[in-house]
Amino acid sequence: MGSISENLKCVEDGIRLACTRVGRSPHEVKLVGVTKMVPIDRVREGVRAGITILGENYVQEARSKIEALSDLQVAWHFIGHLQSNKARIAVDCFQCIHSLDRASLARELDRHAQKRGKVVPVLIQVNLGDEETKSGVAPEGLHALFAAVAEMDGLAVRGLMALPPYLENPEDVRPYFRRLRKLLGFLKGECPRPETLTELSMGMSHDFQVAVEEGATLVRVGTALFGARPCSL
Ligand SMILES: *Cc1c(COP(=O)(O)O)cnc(C)c1O
Repeated sequence: MGSISENLKCVEDGIRLACTRVGRSPHEVKLVGVTKMVPIDRVREGVRAGITILGENYVQEARSKIEALSDLQVAWHFIGHLQSNKARIAVDCFQCIHSLDRASLARELDRHAQKRGKVVPVLIQVNLGDEETKSGVAPEGLHALFAAVAEMDGLAVRGLMALPPYLENPEDVRPYFRRLRKLLGFLKGECPRPETLTELSMGMSHDFQVAVEEGATLVRVGTALFGARPCSL
């Protein structure tokens, strides 16, 4: 494992190469540096190295980091499971929420966003049939959830997110990424403003290159940038 700056170069190279293989522009892909369990000094080092979007899984942990790093020009994205009673803090702290997975949470986020006069960009998290992870709306429920959120003035759906199972060989994850891209295609077909549905948040440290080949616009990378976390989360 090199320095964060070297790691960042490697990840960016990986994104570029994957783009080249499928004829995409690297500008279509944004890197989210996942900083759960990463100490503040290392997060700062990452931002100094050039990371511009940070992803956090836990609201409380994120809140203290955001405060400690308030001097930095960086966007914070929420990528973890969000409890409805944390919706207010989430609306205050994050520029994008990747893990919207149920109508009750959407209503809470919308309520707080409207109180603040904000429109919060969100992605709908889809559970692609993996039994281990419970988060995410089932593909059969996606249309209804999308239709409900589309009515909410405080939220703007920008696309979809998925957390496929960890499979040793990244090639084995490809069908999941493909499925998410297809689901976004279906939503676009039904949406009066398909041009607003631009984002596919998919791909992590070990499979982001495959995700980029399959159309990812946001890759969420932790370990490959910051090193292994103290416990496997
Ligand atoms: C931890 C986490 C990541 C990053 O995982 P790495 O394997 O460390 O890159 C991405 N997305 C979500 C939702 C996560 O919880």
